[in-house]
Amino acid sequence: MMITLRQVALTYQSPHGETEALRDITFSVEEGEFVSVVGPSGCGKSTLLSVIAGLETPCGGTVTVGGETVDGPSATIGFMPQRDGLFEWRSIWNNVTLGLQVRRLTDDEHFAHVRQLLARYDLADFADKRPSELSGGMRQRCALIRTLATDPYILLLDEPFSALDYQTRLSVSADIHDIIRREHKTALLVTHDIAEAISLSDRIVVLSQRPAVVRSVHCLDELRGIPPLERRDTAVFHTVFNTVWKELNAVD
Ligand code: ADP
Ligand code: MG
Repeated sequence: MMITLRQVALTYQSPHGETEALRDITFSVEEGEFVSVVGPSGCGKSTLLSVIAGLETPCGGTVTVGGETVDGPSATIGFMPQRDGLFEWRSIWNNVTLGLQVRRLTDDEHFAHVRQLLARYDLADFADKRPSELSGGMRQRCALIRTLATDPYILLLDEPFSALDYQTRLSVSADIHDIIRREHKTALLVTHDIAEAISLSDRIVVLSQRPAVVRSVHCLDELRGIPPLERRDTAVFHTVFNTVWKELNAVD
């Protein structure tokens, strides 16, 4: 399922005035593609995901998912937030099946799918544990499984690794990348970490300072098929890193 954004604009209205978050965003994500959006803090990245998820309505432009104009939240989209959002008082099983319980999809078939995901990603023995008994990386995998449980076509990831320390972040982002690829999902990841974007994605969209416009798009075809951690040792990685870094730090 493809995502397209055409000249998307959004200005927040509040009693204290207006904040123009998105000015002119045009790009698309192809079916099965992994695209990262990088941009300075506060430039409108989370806003962009909210628009695609149907949680905010743009004031201009159009957003389509699978050819249909987005006009509200839909089950085709799974959202993975910055914090894992696991509930401490619920077991891992009751956390990862939360989306299914809310949607009353509590049949054997859906539960079997979740059991399979837990087993495939080494969490089967932790189903009865509480989140606090798991490492940061395991918690993040649980958060992803909870998102995958409802079998969305598209995953939107909002800086999902930023709460993790550097070492954990490297291995968890590689794990999550593998899971998303293996489950054949279309993914849009928002991050302010250029290295993370290059190591995980097929293309990178660079946003300007707020109000966000698309500054450039980098295609990483030369890195296709190279695992995230190995990408960091390539010449292409360093070239793209320097280019994007300059774009993000340019004053204009
Ligand atoms: P990012 O995720 O890139 O850090 P956000 O999309 O969260 O940026 O925010 C972009 C701008 O919009 C910021 O200036 C922020 O303060 C403002 N903003 C975000 N959400 C709201 C809201 N619900 N109401 C008003 N302003 C908001
Ligand atoms: Mg944000």
